[in-house]
Amino acid sequence: MDRDAFTRSLRILERRHPLRDWSADLTPFEILVSTVLSQSTTVANERRGLAGLRKTLGDITPAALAAAHERDIARAIWHAGLARQKAPRLRAIGHEVVRSWRGELDSVLRLPTEDAREALMSIPGVGPKTADAVLAMAADHPTFPVDTHIARIARRWNLVGTQDYETVRSALEAWTPARKRKAWHLALVAHGRELCKARNPQCDACPVRSDCDWYRAHHGLPLDARATERHGLTKD
Ligand code: SF4
Repeated sequence: MDRDAFTRSLRILERRHPLRDWSADLTPFEILVSTVLSQSTTVANERRGLAGLRKTLGDITPAALAAAHERDIARAIWHAGLARQKAPRLRAIGHEVVRSWRGELDSVLRLPTEDAREALMSIPGVGPKTADAVLAMAADHPTFPVDTHIARIARRWNLVGTQDYETVRSALEAWTPARKRKAWHLALVAHGRELCKARNPQCDACPVRSDCDWYRAHHGLPLDARATERHGLTKD
């Protein structure tokens, strides 16, 4: 897929999935916690984990998490899955935010994007994906977080020749105006959940199939010549 096709497709998907910001009623720290909880689970179960944590802690703050027992955190977030791995991670994050920034993320989020990203990634257990999600959703930094849905779509659209996080993120940011990154991130996630699923993508109902390299490859249609040349397109 070339840049024009990418832009065309994202405009279509943005119209189909108008901006619905899941983070609108969350504090920046809750967005960080929610992003950790969301790993390897569904949105519904992530939200159940967050609700459980709120019920156990009252307000979800760095200080409250740092002071809680791991087993209580694990019990509270049980619905979100991987509770034994996520509980110590959340507790360590709470502890680090208290230690480094007196328990509040706002001063970090006010930094220039790359500085804020670096600061967030200095927290044990916070990787680039989590940092980008917090930056975009909590403070409108112009990052393009890449989750599992977006990584899959980028592969099907043949946007990059490799799947490592930074390469995919850079490619998406290069082709997405800064003011559109949050909206297009959310539109792609919604598209991955609705139609472009990991198994059995619903291509016949997809509004962007005419530009999709994966669809073309699977339906014997001519491919974007530049994409073919760049990546040696093959069926997956
Ligand atoms: S045509 Fe199929 S593979 Fe391509 S974006 Fe649409 S759902 Fe995904």
